[in-house]
Amino acid sequence: MVTNNNNETAVTCPLCRTPSNRRIFEKEGWGYYRCRPCSLVFIHPQPSPDFLTNKYQEYLPESEEAIQAWRLSMEEVILKSAALIEKETGPGRILDVGCGYGFFLYHMAARGWQAEGIEISAQGRHYAAEHFPRFRVRPKALPDPEIPDCSFDVVTLFYVLEHLADPVGVLREVQRILKPDGLLLLRWPHSTPIVRLLGPLARGLDLYHTPYHLFDYSTRFLESTLTGQGFTAIRTLLAGNTLPADRLGRWSSRIFGSLGEFLSRAGAGRLLLPGVSKTTLARKKSPEWPFE
Ligand SMILES: [Zn+2]
Repeated sequence: MVTNNNNETAVTCPLCRTPSNRRIFEKEGWGYYRCRPCSLVFIHPQPSPDFLTNKYQEYLPESEEAIQAWRLSMEEVILKSAALIEKETGPGRILDVGCGYGFFLYHMAARGWQAEGIEISAQGRHYAAEHFPRFRVRPKALPDPEIPDCSFDVVTLFYVLEHLADPVGVLREVQRILKPDGLLLLRWPHSTPIVRLLGPLARGLDLYHTPYHLFDYSTRFLESTLTGQGFTAIRTLLAGNTLPADRLGRWSSRIFGSLGEFLSRAGAGRLLLPGVSKTTLARKKSPEWPFE
């Protein structure tokens, strides 16, 4: 345990273990801290695994109306992600980690992909089994030793990485189960710049979805972590907006999303507005690439 000069317990970064950080947001007893050396934003205290497992059983919306609203809010991201994947690689085996109700996998299966999912929420798995019996949804979170090495052509995680207690370990596991040269697609929120920009106004938006988001990443942090875990050809782009059902969320998503798309286009993809959800693509480094 690290203590500061006043002999109080200091908050340390769960990844780089440094006690140097700044509290940038607080809600209902949970704090969000930005680590100075590694730029990672993390929740403190860390919710326990049991607390989270229980909470996730009521995480997904229940009524058919809410489920369809959720599907619609993700539609643009689903279509753009499918197009991005198919620009890179043809139909093969795809795994969606945290597949929820299975809407993305349903879409990919219809396009000729051999689809499989992982979902820890029993409600999500039951919905997928009932509506989309064509693909299997596993209940066990990664790492899963039952999945052999080099199993998948593509692995996707939509809004999952920020929920994981050990994101680096999961990326390492994704690297293991991808085929050489296999494609990873990450869709992740980048909330911290908006939270800092809006100050007290950010409270109503609940951008960290407290306490569900354990981390908030910067592009630099995520890309260097991927490099460290054996990925190459890493690039980050905007690739569509989600459209939340509530007015405030929709307003923020539209405004920041459109501004982000505009800046990205104006800067030929070089200008990425901080604070907008992003898509990161990467390939598993193949042993056949000797020139890197
Ligand atoms: Zn750190």
